[in-house]
Amino acid sequence: MTSTKFTLSQLQNEAKKLARRITPPVCIALWGDLGAGKTTFSKAFIRALLDDTKADVPSPTFTLVQIYPTDKGEVWHADLYRLSDPEETIELGLLEAFQKAICVIEWPDRLGNLLPQQRIDIYLDIIDEDHRSIRIEENHESSPIY
Ligand code: ATP
Ligand code: MG
Repeated sequence: MTSTKFTLSQLQNEAKKLARRITPPVCIALWGDLGAGKTTFSKAFIRALLDDTKADVPSPTFTLVQIYPTDKGEVWHADLYRLSDPEETIELGLLEAFQKAICVIEWPDRLGNLLPQQRIDIYLDIIDEDHRSIRIEENHESSPIY
């Protein structure tokens, strides 16, 4: 998929579209600088899975992970910015979650080689204050192409 220029609501809509077609287990890696929109995308994605546009979806900056029960099973939202050692993900239970859940990972580079090969990569880039580019690359066998 080529990158496209998205407004905030378009980016949120893209997250909803992905939420609708995704099935577990899946690892979604969100790549992008500070303020690129990783949490914004995750929020819209999780709210769509919860079918609740106003659900409280706090950034897991300090807790590292937040787990949400949804109709499609557990959704794990991780922000690994503060992860000091990839091995910590074992304690967090994230490696088990990769086997069963829908996992949305901010700062996936922190996982090193513990990042699953089978995953969906989403690259977010800041174009200007109100626009982001999104590129979605799928290496995930159960995801249908739309
Ligand atoms: P961090 O690495 O610090 O956690 P992040 O990638 O999670 O950063 P967000 O917390 O989602 O970034 O912040 C993105 C900010 O950019 C939000 O305040 C959001 O409202 C704003 N924004 C403006 N335009 C857009 C857009 N088109 N898409 C996404 N976010 C946008
Ligand atoms: Mg964030």
